Amino acid sequence: MIKNGLALYIHLPFCLKKCYYCDFNSYSGKEELMGSYIKALSTEMCLYSFKLKERKVESIYIGGGTPTYLGIKHLETLLDNVRQVFYICEGAEITIEANPGSLSLKLLKFLYEKGVNRLSIGLQACDANILKQLGRIHTFEQFENNFNWARIAGFNNINVDLMIGLPGQTFENVYKCVRKVINLKPEHISVYSLKIEKSTKFYEMYESGQLILPDEDQERLFYHTAVNLLIQNGYKHYEISNFALPGYACRHNLIYWENKEYLGLGAGAHSYIDGKRFYNTETPEKYIELLNKKNLPVEEYENINLSTEMAETMFMSLRLVQGVSRKKFFDRFGKTLDEVYGAEIKKLVSLGLLIDDGKRIRLSTRGLDLANEVFMEFLP
Ligand code: SF4
Repeated sequence: MIKNGLALYIHLPFCLKKCYYCDFNSYSGKEELMGSYIKALSTEMCLYSFKLKERKVESIYIGGGTPTYLGIKHLETLLDNVRQVFYICEGAEITIEANPGSLSLKLLKFLYEKGVNRLSIGLQACDANILKQLGRIHTFEQFENNFNWARIAGFNNINVDLMIGLPGQTFENVYKCVRKVINLKPEHISVYSLKIEKSTKFYEMYESGQLILPDEDQERLFYHTAVNLLIQNGYKHYEISNFALPGYACRHNLIYWENKEYLGLGAGAHSYIDGKRFYNTETPEKYIELLNKKNLPVEEYENINLSTEMAETMFMSLRLVQGVSRKKFFDRFGKTLDEVYGAEIKKLVSLGLLIDDGKRIRLSTRGLDLANEVFMEFLP
């Protein structure tokens, strides 16, 4: 019997150059590890294959890093191995992340022919000065070329990532950039706020006063400007930072936001399966070493008890603009939302941060700006 579906995340941690704001598990200058890393990924898949052989894979997300930086040979091995090991549903969503400067028409055609049916391109900003300040390796014109190549290759489901709250960014920058991207008609656009994370070049610059950022009010103005422009142009605002034309919400990410199961493969990848969350060792070297010895590279397992699962479901699902369905919550946990979180919901509704329409609770416009404060209320 086929059990629940499964989402697969595959992490490829290689980049041509580290962006100054980036704290993802990604590295430049480790290209010589690419071959052994792909081999290690294949071993990791095989180690899970018996346990998960009854699961149908409904979505695959190849993220990074810059997956497209690995080139055709490595990506071909990876995609062939995934298909050999896992049962992939027909029509599964298969996304690959890409950065302008790491793409060619040949690579895009190859990916499309291999069954990759969704492309997520990191643009981040349109202004050349801002891109330079972020340490990005590309210009807007390169992105535009790459986008057009993706269409020629056959991709009809493309996401473009943008960022707000960037150094030197103005209202005009944001407005023009969102408009320029909308004019290309991607099926999906994400708009993320810059966060200054430790262990990044931006953190050092921020601490030493060299990084001047828009203030919080400006950053919120940028966000709401982007939201309004996208909605006016037919994009549905379906998650705090995500917008899609009808029918193009990211199915893979919906699995995270609905707090469903996924398997993460690769260095530092996180998983949630059979009531356990676990994550892999971060460095590619150690990851490869463990898999060469046929050991799973898992660093730590955590059992998720019922109250944690309920809390996680609340703060993940509240990221969705449609919010949390009372019926779905009851179907999943056998308890009503009010039994478990009645007091919290009442308080957040009275503060104007949540809206309760009887069937669902969701973030208000003010709640979208203060989402983290709302999520804190549901922590066990
Ligand atoms: S390309 Fe992406 S993963 Fe790589 S350093 Fe830049 S932001 Fe990080």
